[in-house]
Parts: sequence; structure tokens; C-alpha cells
Amino acid sequence: MDKPFLDKLRKIDPYVPGEQPQAKDIIKLNANENPYPPAPGVQEVLRTFDASSLALYPDANGKRLKTVLAERFGVKTAQVFLGNGSDDVLALAFQSFFCSDKPILYPDITYSFYPVWCDLFRIPYETVPLSEDFCVNIRNYDKPNGGVVLPNPNAPTGRALPLDAIEDLLQRNTDCIVIIDEAYVDFGTNSAVSLLKRYENLLIVQTMSKSRSLAGLRIGYALGSETLIATLEAVKNSYNSYTMDAIALAAGEAAVRDEMYFQQICRKVIATRERAAEALRELGFTVSPSLSNFLFVTHPKKEASVIFEYLRQKNIFIRYFKLPRIDNYLRITVGTDEQMDKLIAALKEFL
Ligand code: PMP
Repeated sequence: MDKPFLDKLRKIDPYVPGEQPQAKDIIKLNANENPYPPAPGVQEVLRTFDASSLALYPDANGKRLKTVLAERFGVKTAQVFLGNGSDDVLALAFQSFFCSDKPILYPDITYSFYPVWCDLFRIPYETVPLSEDFCVNIRNYDKPNGGVVLPNPNAPTGRALPLDAIEDLLQRNTDCIVIIDEAYVDFGTNSAVSLLKRYENLLIVQTMSKSRSLAGLRIGYALGSETLIATLEAVKNSYNSYTMDAIALAAGEAAVRDEMYFQQICRKVIATRERAAEALRELGFTVSPSLSNFLFVTHPKKEASVIFEYLRQKNIFIRYFKLPRIDNYLRITVGTDEQMDKLIAALKEFL
């Protein structure tokens, strides 16, 4: 049958998120989720939430959540932007700030959503190679560009840059917007928040999906100068004013208010990460130094894809990317001590 409308459809290669297997008895270490529940205050909000209030639209400006975030980070409320997960925030930031003919720059090995947004929004881009051992060299970003995006720590490598390197990058890129994607910053990296006072072209993007155990609620936010945030708000309000639902706004507020719980689970994840890294090294793995909630590893004797399939059969899900330079690597999310022990035991049987 002739379907002439087919050539009018948008053709795009989408981002492929980590699998969400539904079986109960699996060990899920494939999407960098937090193995611990959210703060008790979040559970309380959900238990007592008044469903009748859902008849009304949520606060499009998310004022209460912005206010607690502004206090937490020592910035003005007008310097906070909210989104439906940091993917939503990043997608809006790409649309808002990368409007030049020059290519934006980001690492060749990084979050695989960046090229998808470039394609979707028709943003020219150029990738900057990481070193052999997956380090970012800021000097390589010294070229004409339409903007820079850098995750710190980087994903899926887990390697982080110190704050002075981020400042160096900002000093060399004053005529474009620099986005630092801090999805994993709470697991041991210094945030660039302290640089906001000096660099009006800096946008920091964070998420509650990892360190605040709220991946299922979809809460992301950006911190930046009032000018950048106002631009993001204008673009968001030209697309969908209500990206944040009322439940997410209330639960997110409770999560930010419980600083002690947040610190405690971050410390637990970090301790387990170090323990698991050591155990993996003892099994012969090369483990990249990680300051995130995942480990990036390779084994000299067994192919990554084979290890991945073996673990999958055992109901242990990790992540394998069939991509240039990293197709012999595995990304393993840090779970509980017990989950990591089971992973190590399964690997011991196999290697
Ligand atoms: N940035 C990076 C580097 C990530 O790995 C992720 C998680 N896939 C995100 C952003 C998006 O996370 P979320 O949309 O859950 O906030």
C-alpha cells in the first residue's frame, strides 16, 4: 500500500535506557539507581498526600521546592530551575543555550543521551577524545565552540575532575554556556556550585534520581545565574508549563530537607564502592578510579560481553555498551554490600 506520509515522519535513533526487568528476585545493578529507599520524610509525604488536591494543577513555578534547594545550595530561588528528571532539564538546556552554528563540545565517551539531543534539536557537535585511561583534558576544549557539556564525574567511566580544572574550563570558555552535568557528584566529587558567583555562563545540572533515591519520581534541577535560569523558564513555558507534578514537588522537598539521611546513604554507597572495587581487583579486573555510584571495569582474560551475558543468566543485571573504545568494559552500579557480595561470588565461579 502506498503511504506517502511516511517520508514526513521524523527519523531518529533514540537513547536506549537501561533495562527494567520486572522479575522480583533479580540483582539490579544496571541503571545507577540507589539501593536504599528515599528519606523517611518522602514516605510520609506519600502516605499522607491528599489525592483530592490532584484536581488542581501543580505550582508551575515549583516555588516551595525551589526555595529548599536554594537554601541548601546558598543561591537565590531565581537561580534554581526544576524539571522532570535531569534528562528533561538537560534537554531544555540544550535547546535554550546551544543555538550557534559552531559545534558544541563534549567527551567522546560520555552520557549517550547528548548526541541524541543534538540530533533531535539539530545542534552541531564535536566530540573530544578522553585520554587512554579515560581522563578529560581541559586543554583539548580550547577551540571555537557553541558550548561545552561535561559530566563531572563522567559517565560511564566514573572519573571526576577537580574543581580547579572546571574553573580552568570556565576561564577558557567565557563566550558560551558551559553545562556541568553533576548527576553523580554526591558520591565524592566537589560540586561546581561555588563557582556560580563568578561565572554567569555556568549551568549546573543535578538529579534526585541517584543520591536521593528518587529515580521513579523524576526530579532534576539546574542551578545557574538568574539570566540562564530565566531563559530556561521561558523555553520551558513555551513547551510545557507543568513538567513537575504535585506529588514530585512535595516529595522532593521532603528529600532535600533530610540532609542527615542523604549524607548517610551517600557514605554507605561510597564505602561499598571502595570495598567492591577492591574485591573486583582481586579477581583480576582493572577498575577505573570512580567517584560515582558505579564502577567501570574490564577483565584481561574474559570478554565484557561474555561476563555480561553470564551474569544476566544469573539474574544479575549490569550494563554493557557496545560502543567504540569501551566495548570490552562493563558498568556496574554500586548496590548494597549484600548485592555486591553476590555479584563477586557469581564472578568468582566464572573467572
Ligand atoms: N546525566 C547523566 C550523566 C546520567 O547518567 C543520567 C542518568 N541516566 C542523567 C543525567 C539523567 O538522570 P535523570 O533523568 O534520572 O535525572
